[in-house]
Amino acid sequence: MNPATTASNLHLTGLHHVTAVAGDPRRNVEFYTRVLGLRLIKRTVNFDDPSTYHLYYGDSVGTPGSVLTFFPWAGVRRGRPGTGQAYATAFSVPAGSVPFWTARLLAHGVTPAAPVTRFGDEALAFNDPDGLVLELIATSEPDTRTAHAHPEISAAHGIRGFHSVTLAVTSAAPTAALLTGPMGYRATLSSPGRIRYSVGTAGPGSYIDLLVDPKLARGLPGAGTVHHIAFRTPDDATQAEARKILVDLDLQVSPVMDRNYFHSIYYREPEGVLFEIATDNPGFTVDEPLATLGHALKLPAQYESQRAEIEAHLPKID
Ligand code: ZN
Repeated sequence: MNPATTASNLHLTGLHHVTAVAGDPRRNVEFYTRVLGLRLIKRTVNFDDPSTYHLYYGDSVGTPGSVLTFFPWAGVRRGRPGTGQAYATAFSVPAGSVPFWTARLLAHGVTPAAPVTRFGDEALAFNDPDGLVLELIATSEPDTRTAHAHPEISAAHGIRGFHSVTLAVTSAAPTAALLTGPMGYRATLSSPGRIRYSVGTAGPGSYIDLLVDPKLARGLPGAGTVHHIAFRTPDDATQAEARKILVDLDLQVSPVMDRNYFHSIYYREPEGVLFEIATDNPGFTVDEPLATLGHALKLPAQYESQRAEIEAHLPKID
């Protein structure tokens, strides 16, 4: 292996989390826990604006690669999914589960698009209550991750974590150069308008798709759009190495931010999508036991003294 190539690789291991903007937090909880069967694993506030929630959903333990989070702002204007954004967030579900999910979504008032075949797997696209573009990829690829138990969704159908995130771009080359250069991704599959990249040990949870669709307009931020996507790095030491590489590339990377459940750095890819690199440590059990994840409002230390005021201001979501 070329030592220069190795030295400039960020050593990412896949997707960590996706963070999106939502409207009413109660409707958000209802949809992701009751309809999709994810676990609410953390109920906290936006660390940059403690008057709003930051809600985290995932598998039973909040494994990196299963975690979808929201900043819900009741009354926020809707955005528009489009280029310069993470356009679609896709979950991995077992092969053959599309009829189950189609029926389940329809029963909950959500009309999915007709299933399509994407790189040999069935893909079912639909919108969450705020218009966020979601997909279920019923893949025959091995995926040993376990879905969170839900009384109406068997293991033969359950969401096992992310499959992929699709970035909508006006041209593939600049973003592809970042992905396949320092970020260490490999182009693995392509079809007209779509290129798939994987990293680490590959497989569901590692994929980034680039979508070049002339029909798509520039995305506008707001409810129903992704705010940023985060990639996994094992620990603080690997994150520090990655940060040094990004600094050397003049990528305007942020300082390390303590997000309580992981540590984060941020930078933007050439089309403007906000990327984050988040550590696997310390994880979601750092401030509450596994059995009661998501039950109580958890605040970072700097806001604990304002708890009464913060709780009084937040809408009840039980
Ligand atoms: Zn994040």
